[in-house]
Amino acid sequence: MARILIIEDETAIAELERDYLELSGYEVTIAGDGLAGKRAALEGDYDLVILDLMLPGSDGFEICKAIREAKDIPILMVSAKKDEVDKIRGLGLGADDYMTKPFSPSELVARVKAHLQRYERLVGSGIRENKVIETRGLRIDKTARRVFVNGEEKAFTTKEFDLLTYLAENPNRVFSKDELFRAIWDMDSVGDIATVTVHIKKVREKIETDTSNPQYIETIWGVGYRFKA
Ligand code: CA
Repeated sequence: MARILIIEDETAIAELERDYLELSGYEVTIAGDGLAGKRAALEGDYDLVILDLMLPGSDGFEICKAIREAKDIPILMVSAKKDEVDKIRGLGLGADDYMTKPFSPSELVARVKAHLQRYERLVGSGIRENKVIETRGLRIDKTARRVFVNGEEKAFTTKEFDLLTYLAENPNRVFSKDELFRAIWDMDSVGDIATVTVHIKKVREKIETDTSNPQYIETIWGVGYRFKA
């Protein structure tokens, strides 16, 4: 059974969508604001996301971009304003479809069905490949969000994974703790650059053979960190 995530702050709309989708046999989860929605979309195992544009917490633009960077599941964006829909289409954020509210629930179901079928065809034909970063014995599977060190899988928290991936995708570039904090943590996160130090330490413990002589993440004293390609 396909799993669908609805990110929508208007409860009545979210519940109407859910009821129709459940009647069609889908398993549905609702997230009522942007932050919860973004977290659910990135950490949960969903086959399709229905994403409202105007949300408290984190707006649909940002969420769409974040999902697209991590996953290639279909994203169906909805907005109350037609001109907003035209605008998001123009931005090329990677949403698969757009709908203007109000729309008929049966039209929503029809579109969801079409996108899931198309997505399954892509997955089934092997066109969809996992995005993988490999450096020496380190293998980061971005799609599955899994990390292997010399073939052995290591368990990573979301932020540890994001931090390692960010550094590995920008090899040989030195980042200050400040830059890393801004890139990986939400602006409203509790914490500061000490959080970065703690996470770097944890990541090293997982990927380095000798943490006092790191082979992947180097400390550039007084500046920050660099991933060695
Ligand atoms: Ca809204």
